Amino acid sequence: MEGFQLREVLDQRRSEQLHRERLVLDGPQGPEVLVNGKRYLAFCSNDYLGLANHPAVIARFQQAANRYGLGGGASHMIIGHSRAHHELEEALAAFTRRPRVLLFSTGYMANLGVISALVERGGLVCQDRLNHASLLDAGKLSGARVLRYRHADSEVLTNRLSDSNAYRKLIVTDGVFSMDGDLAPLSMLANVAKNNDACLMVDDAHGFGFLGEGGRGSVSHWQLSIKQVPVLVGTLGKAFGTSGAFVAGSEELIETLIQFSRSYIYTTAMPPAIADATQVSLQILESESWRREHLTDLIKLFRDGCHAMGIPLMESMTPIQPILVGSVEKALLVSRKLAELGILITAIRPPTVPRGEARLRVTLSASHSRRHVDYLLTALNQVQGVLNTSN
Ligand SMILES: *Cc1c(COP(=O)(O)O)cnc(C)c1O
Repeated sequence: MEGFQLREVLDQRRSEQLHRERLVLDGPQGPEVLVNGKRYLAFCSNDYLGLANHPAVIARFQQAANRYGLGGGASHMIIGHSRAHHELEEALAAFTRRPRVLLFSTGYMANLGVISALVERGGLVCQDRLNHASLLDAGKLSGARVLRYRHADSEVLTNRLSDSNAYRKLIVTDGVFSMDGDLAPLSMLANVAKNNDACLMVDDAHGFGFLGEGGRGSVSHWQLSIKQVPVLVGTLGKAFGTSGAFVAGSEELIETLIQFSRSYIYTTAMPPAIADATQVSLQILESESWRREHLTDLIKLFRDGCHAMGIPLMESMTPIQPILVGSVEKALLVSRKLAELGILITAIRPPTVPRGEARLRVTLSASHSRRHVDYLLTALNQVQGVLNTSN
């Protein structure tokens, strides 16, 4: 592979401090994690409701493994579509109050599968600049023209849409932006879609479980109908605490995906026991509203604490509470200092976020206690010297 010059490319990454390393976790996800034999208080998972290690979810997973075995064994179209998958789809359809739901193995695959089943050459996909990478990749893969509009700004979007003679126009947005924590202006986008014969697709990976009535997510929070948001994607690896993803929509949408979505058709079904266990996490997610209330308390505690110390936060009401640091060097340094104090928050660097916008992506979970957040605030106070330096 000499002609590939992999070493040079890797060295370049390292010299820009953009090289990524993986921590090795020696136990379950939770407020306290074990990494290389050391305990840390972690504020960086997406396990917003603390369900990834919930005893009832685990117990159901174990029972389901006894009933269904482990591997999915085949794709859904061949012989991999089990009763467990089917029942979870029905439960998620009832939860989202939509006619039908289709499960995918991951959120990344759901997004690839949906966008490329809905548009191709001659179509137009409009994406918020800060959309998740899987949505941006899906747009490219579809072969449609892709327009990236300014974050949460409908002006350019409206102009481009009204000029376009594409045969199908899809507006795609995160419901809650994954690296910023702010909400997409869904009511406004729904109006833009309606006035321009476009269809609105929302990826609510970070909204489900926290926002809306019973954790029904962004679309419920904004009180929008299936007509206004025909395509709704959710993931199961975040607030649900398991793994996989789903698309909720009309009968015709779901049937179209079953027939045309390549990332649905050409892959092995997720392990049925995961689907079965997700039914329990769905029940807990919907019924235990104390988790959302507690999380809301923690968010307020954290924001008030940062405000009192003069640490600027982003405009976010969700469990994603990033501290914008700026330079890569500084973000890494603060992250390292916090680790010395026993706190784990990974620095998020380009290309995940725009250049000059490296940040500490603090995430809160219902499994954190007020004491945990107090300790985080104390630690942030101790690293403020570094946070406040210019650059
Ligand atoms: C995490 C995430 C995904 C990908 O979901 P996976 O199930 O982890 O593949 C898609 N979209 C958004 C907005 C996400 O945050």
